Amino acid sequence: MIELRGIRKSFAGNEVLHGVDVVVPEGQVTALIGPSGSGKSTLLRCVNLLDAPDAGRLTLGEESLEFQPGRPPARAAVQRIRQQTGMVFQNFQLFPHRTAVQNVMEGLVTVKGWSRERARERALGLLDKVGLREKADAWPSSLSGGQQQRVAIARALAPEPRVLLCDEPTSALDPGLAAEVVAVLADLAAEGMTMLMATHDLRLAAQVARQTVFLQDGAVVEARPSAELFRNPQDPRTQRFVATLK
Ligand code: ADP
Ligand code: MG
Repeated sequence: MIELRGIRKSFAGNEVLHGVDVVVPEGQVTALIGPSGSGKSTLLRCVNLLDAPDAGRLTLGEESLEFQPGRPPARAAVQRIRQQTGMVFQNFQLFPHRTAVQNVMEGLVTVKGWSRERARERALGLLDKVGLREKADAWPSSLSGGQQQRVAIARALAPEPRVLLCDEPTSALDPGLAAEVVAVLADLAAEGMTMLMATHDLRLAAQVARQTVFLQDGAVVEARPSAELFRNPQDPRTQRFVATLK
């Protein structure tokens, strides 16, 4: 579903991704693990082109883009890629002055041009899916972190993306609230949603992700089925990092 080949990215002359290759198969979850600063967020932002890579190739479904330094990709191609991805952030990033259901509807109305009635109907269905139908009219500030993140997941799913990108979706949450979010992501995985998720949450990676990619210093060290990577890491760097996860 997603293929990244030789992705390079620099900020102000400092290269932080050094030619990354990652393949995310359709209908499966791929976890991205690695120390803080290893480039996980940057790599996710390169997939939905919030950051344009400097070099390499990104393929997402039928769309394929080759990047060259100083040659930003065509805006139409960026839009086509972006429309196929949904993004969930560590800090939820809900609109504070919109209720839960308005947060989920917003993109359907403003980007897709749906009527408010149709958008609200779909948004209520998605809130039901994440277990928050009864919180539809609640303000984000009245919701727990776990509930806010579940609204954010519903919002990301609203335009029916082909891929869900998650950047440490549970790291701002206490363990009990993180478990609610893991349960929702596990349900989506069981339905065959394609996902790429950066996480420090061993439970999330081991339970939900078929494949895990270990990134360090902007390069892939090891990419294997999660059960094998966690049980029997091959590279000494992976061994050291996996030992720090809980
Ligand atoms: P991770 O998500 O694995 O913690 P990041 O992708 O956030 O890692 O960061 C990788 C490296 O890129 C870090 O050294 C970080 O300081 C740098 N970096 C990320 N975004 C920017 C930016 N917008 N400007 C400058 N440096 C950045
Ligand atoms: Mg990050």
